Amino acid sequence: MLNEIVLKMYGRKLEDCTEEELYHALLTLVQERAAGKEITGKKKKLYYISAEFLIGKLLSNNLINLGLYEQIEQELRAAGKSLARLEDREPEPSLGNGGLGRLAACFLDSIATLGLAGDGIGLNYHFGLFRQKFKRCRQRELPNPWIGKDSWLIRRDEKFSVSFGDFTVIATMYDILVTGYDNGTNRLHLFDLDSVEESIVGKGIDFDKEQIQKNLTLFLYPDDSDEKGRLLRVYQQYFMVSCGAQFILSEALERGSNLHDLADYVAIQINDTHPSMVIPELIRLLTGKGMEWEEALEVVTACCAYTNHTILAEALEKWPVSYIEKVAPALVPIIRRLNDVVMENDNNPAVAIIDEDERVHMAHMDMHFSHSVNGVAKLHTEILKNSELRDFYQLYPEKFNNKTNGITFRRWLLHCNHPLTKLLEETIGAGFKKDAGQLEKLLDHQGEKEVLNRLLRIKKEKKHELALYLKEKQNLILDEDSIFDIQIKRLHEYKRQQLNALYAIHKYLEIKAGKHPKRPITLIFGAKAAPAYVIAKDIIHLILCLQKLIEKDREVRPYLRVVMVENYNVTMAEKLIPACDISEQISLASKEASGTGNMKFMLNGAVTLGTEDGANVEIHQLVGDKNIYVFGEDSDTVIARYERGDYCSRDYYEKNPELREAVDFIVSRKMRRIGNKACLQRLYKELLDKDWFMTFPDYPSYVEAKERAYADYEEKEEWAKKMLVNIAKAGFFSSDRTIAQYNEEIWHLE
Ligand SMILES: *Cc1c(COP(=O)(O)O)cnc(C)c1O
Repeated sequence: MLNEIVLKMYGRKLEDCTEEELYHALLTLVQERAAGKEITGKKKKLYYISAEFLIGKLLSNNLINLGLYEQIEQELRAAGKSLARLEDREPEPSLGNGGLGRLAACFLDSIATLGLAGDGIGLNYHFGLFRQKFKRCRQRELPNPWIGKDSWLIRRDEKFSVSFGDFTVIATMYDILVTGYDNGTNRLHLFDLDSVEESIVGKGIDFDKEQIQKNLTLFLYPDDSDEKGRLLRVYQQYFMVSCGAQFILSEALERGSNLHDLADYVAIQINDTHPSMVIPELIRLLTGKGMEWEEALEVVTACCAYTNHTILAEALEKWPVSYIEKVAPALVPIIRRLNDVVMENDNNPAVAIIDEDERVHMAHMDMHFSHSVNGVAKLHTEILKNSELRDFYQLYPEKFNNKTNGITFRRWLLHCNHPLTKLLEETIGAGFKKDAGQLEKLLDHQGEKEVLNRLLRIKKEKKHELALYLKEKQNLILDEDSIFDIQIKRLHEYKRQQLNALYAIHKYLEIKAGKHPKRPITLIFGAKAAPAYVIAKDIIHLILCLQKLIEKDREVRPYLRVVMVENYNVTMAEKLIPACDISEQISLASKEASGTGNMKFMLNGAVTLGTEDGANVEIHQLVGDKNIYVFGEDSDTVIARYERGDYCSRDYYEKNPELREAVDFIVSRKMRRIGNKACLQRLYKELLDKDWFMTFPDYPSYVEAKERAYADYEEKEEWAKKMLVNIAKAGFFSSDRTIAQYNEEIWHLE
């Protein structure tokens, strides 16, 4: 198949083509096949609006979804070429920060796989999220230019005009085709600024934040620690929703809507609060076309649904009215009128859209003027209803619902773990690929030594592959016989990488004192910190210093290694997750809304070591006590302590000599010799004076659970059974299930 294509394109046979030519030919092939399968002719369509779509590389996944993977792979191999090497050439678009953006990407895959008409709407950031480099044990940020000659972007002819307070800009829409597995194709629409100028980027990721007409779509979430950064973010948000709303209305009109019946044609899912201005923008556009205000309000509410992703107060966006006045002055009277409507119904300042400090609470606007509000895991939704959003739940109990997150098994199993996929096909048939619930059939094979041994062999093979990959790409050296204990996710204090680092210190000191673990341990980290998040960067510094300390210590190195991979992204996740033995999901209970990394690990036969937080709670329920390591205080205890406001980390430090020793080591002479004294000192002080995410109370039970997991790991057959149960029970976390629920309960697409 590919041979005919390259003959036609280049007049040469496969074996005589360069990798660049082959990549281009494959891209063309995939685009043609995908375009032939577009989901059209449906009355109602979903628009998933999100500031982030962390889609990862697309070539292999598209080949899998189109049913071409094996054929192409063989054809290339026969010609002495390698698909893996072509994959390697593909740059990874970094159009997301982490979980929230990756979720949006998994959802698009599942929407197309279920044959539903649903497109993504977002922004075409030229440099995306920064690329991370380590230098002198610290994070450095570089741009990630991902749009090359052979990108997946398809330029569309339509132009969009967006009027800000002081000027008007023109936008172009680019599409990326979204293939479903053995089903139809949808699109991801990314809007871009025509006047954007890449050349204004200076050193690293520095640029003039005030030149909106040149910088608007350069970066994802630029540093918002200063006013100019925050204002730019509002510009980006309004640009996205204004283009999006114009596009949604034009498509609805084309499909035959008369706008009064818009909700029969359009469902809009607002992914977190970044796209919230779509509500007033749609009202503006509809009333501009002559619709009465009251009706516009009703129509928009019937179209829109809001997903909440966090209960961290600092993450809920509140924009000063003055910002919106500058960016989108036409929205201000609309937002004020929305606030009046709310206050007339219920004069409760806790549910106001505009507070007394003249700040617009974006989530409040979403909850009043959407017909659905959902959390992303059972525990998270309960916390929203009972504490964070209680006033709203009392106003609109019928709006609140839960949609536990999910992941696409095409990427996180079929693509990233071929040998496991093959084992599953051979033991339970191929049905699980479209119906993830069928993974449970694996439970019937728990007693089969052959299956258990194969699971262990596959894990070993994947650990070997990871070791080769990290050696080649980052010159990191792994001990393949050690336990791979992995924590990969954004760096945030609530995710508590610092707790894992304290364990590393504890283990280091134990080994120094002559107490050796039975089997060597490799603690693997991967995490980017927001450029302005000082403490997060200090935690990276701590981990890198520990890595360096142990690297040079001949006493400790045979038993313990700390490895931090550079530039953690989707591609890296695809290599790390299949190789993992123990999955670290150790956020402070009540703080992680769901997590999806936890699901990817489970699906690949890692056993979770985690708190009762987010979707870990549901994983625990599914696999049972025997197949997970749970530790730490529960969310009720944590929430109560925050309410009392009496947490004092120093009390725990003083009462626990082992913990004290580990904490003190951060500022020890050994560490100061390797690292930066000010950074280490700041982190030390932060833990002792604040420890806002309560690592100290959970420290003893964390160490205990970790030791228990390591000991159990030595019982190979029992461990393989735990792996098997985790894989078998992962079906619930397929995003196909999540999307089917969104559709049945919120979108109602055909
Ligand atoms: C899945 C994923 C995440 C989310 O991980 P959590 O552990 O749920 O926070 C973040 N980044 C990347 C690259 C991912 O693939």
